Amino acid sequence: MDYFSLNKKAPNTSFKDAVIRGLAPDKGLYFPEHIEALPKSFFENIDHLSHTEIAFQAIKQFVIPDISEDVLKDIIEDTLCFDFPIVELDKNISTLELFHGPTMAFKDVGARFMARCLAHFNTNNTNEVTVLVATSGDTGGAVANGFLGIKGVNVVILYPSGKVSEIQEKQLTTLGQNITALEIDGVFDDCQDMVKRAFLDDDLTSKMQLTSANSINVARWLPQLFYFMFAYRQLHKKYDDIVFSIPSGNFGNICAGMMAQQLGLPIKHFVAANNANNVVTEYLNTETYNPKPSVQTISNAMDVGNPSNFIRIQEIYKNNFSTLKENLSSYSFTDQQTRAALKDIYKTYNYIADPHGAVGYLGCKSHLKNHPNSHCVFLETAHPTKFLDVVEEVIETKVSLPPQIEAVMDKVKVATSISTYADLKAFLIQKNKA
Ligand SMILES: *Cc1c(COP(=O)(O)O)cnc(C)c1O
Repeated sequence: MDYFSLNKKAPNTSFKDAVIRGLAPDKGLYFPEHIEALPKSFFENIDHLSHTEIAFQAIKQFVIPDISEDVLKDIIEDTLCFDFPIVELDKNISTLELFHGPTMAFKDVGARFMARCLAHFNTNNTNEVTVLVATSGDTGGAVANGFLGIKGVNVVILYPSGKVSEIQEKQLTTLGQNITALEIDGVFDDCQDMVKRAFLDDDLTSKMQLTSANSINVARWLPQLFYFMFAYRQLHKKYDDIVFSIPSGNFGNICAGMMAQQLGLPIKHFVAANNANNVVTEYLNTETYNPKPSVQTISNAMDVGNPSNFIRIQEIYKNNFSTLKENLSSYSFTDQQTRAALKDIYKTYNYIADPHGAVGYLGCKSHLKNHPNSHCVFLETAHPTKFLDVVEEVIETKVSLPPQIEAVMDKVKVATSISTYADLKAFLIQKNKA
């Protein structure tokens, strides 16, 4: 499968090259040249297939021949080593729990898949790849954990000092081995700016192979389409009109759901559930796309002012506004509404959501007002204890830590403090020589 750049000013390339580069040379996002739908029988018989069989059939066209069938099967098996349970709250609403991985964030799947692809591409190669990633919280932990111990890959994570939760900080600073944490004297945008500058620094990129591990990378983005198939497998016999509500920030997860739809998954509609960062909600209302600086909310993994994957969504629906609107609605919710939703979910269903899931739940509620016969699945993208302060305060109950989280809390933080781009560059060059 070839990939092309959505900026259309770079040559087409292979899966392997797209994964190693992250972004195309013209700074565009890569997109597959062609999408071949799976046969109808695949979806009719999906409940007889295992998660790994579903995942293999769904992603193979995007990966083979750069990775052989056998190796791809191993990578998938290794990636999907945990559960993806559906919890039905009532006849109209379910939640798909995506937080049973090692760092209890849905990003575990993409991070693990990408790490194993990069490791495979590097088997016969002594050229090390450096994965540079800025995080506002969950990405860092998932990437650190997913890439831990992967040969030939160094991971450097930039996080804003004092701006991530204690649990999140422990998850990205306590692993050691090939993972380095840089504690930045600044906010998330400063981390992101430094990473972007590094990718554009020819002097640096001539000395080392840098790549990104956020959802612009096709190997982190595409495996997220599995979730939608797993949910469908569990619910399709019971409900005719299944709709997904996805708490969205960079729109990678929802865009992967739309790829599943392109593969033939019988889903007619998606709901993008947003916090106060409402660029897409506004776009669907006004047809004007107006990126703005992000504002801080209690669902901070979605505090994105200019969602990087929205351009892929435009491509999927052929840049046609009315087709887009048929397939996508978007709603934006305040922190106050999110808190009320957390409480409502707890009181009504005795279920503890996290703030991101609560925004997804609100998306379902909005959709169901006009489509009372739909069954809406909201994605639970993180475990509630990762946002302990807010959750405990709102539901007025103590929540106990799961073992994955408990295990990192006793470990010792190791991070290097830096404050400027010059510091980062010096650090990378020094590390590359070592
Ligand atoms: C990253 C993240 C999101 C947003 O996902 P996108 O693919 O960027 O839209 C939502 N919830 C949580 C907990 C996350 O970590």
